[in-house]
Amino acid sequence: MSDEFHMTVSIPTDDEGYILLQCEHCGTFFKVTPFDIEDGGVLHIFCPSCGLTSENYVTEDVIELAMRMIKNKVNDMIYDAFKDLERHNKRNSIIKFKAGKRPKHETEDPIRSGIEALEIANFSCCRRSAKIKPLLKMTGAYCPFCGVKNYEIE
Ligand SMILES: [Zn+2]
Ligand SMILES: [Zn+2]
Repeated sequence: MSDEFHMTVSIPTDDEGYILLQCEHCGTFFKVTPFDIEDGGVLHIFCPSCGLTSENYVTEDVIELAMRMIKNKVNDMIYDAFKDLERHNKRNSIIKFKAGKRPKHETEDPIRSGIEALEIANFSCCRRSAKIKPLLKMTGAYCPFCGVKNYEIE
């Protein structure tokens, strides 16, 4: 029996299918869909706040958050497995399993709250959408897909 445990780690998408990116220049968080990133027509992703392109949008903060989310998930899985054992061992129990309390989740903050405040913005220049800070929608934001500044963003 193998006691190895495999898990595919991917950047978690939110409920609407956006993934989190962070600009390496100004630290702004924004979200785009994997569909738009992988689209051949999109060569670079521009930061909606400073308009620059980054080499790497998956920053340590993002990885750390992903790791915390995974850790919480793994803890839940272990707990559920023990709960199962507990249930199955009720009848003919020589060994008793007690799952105890459900593990406390590590806080997925601080960036999580910031992420949830992001709003969908439609960039008419490319007919694509991204999630950006509400403030950027008011002040104008660079289109993440072509780098053109949009002022009236819906
Ligand atoms: Zn930036
Ligand atoms: Zn555009």
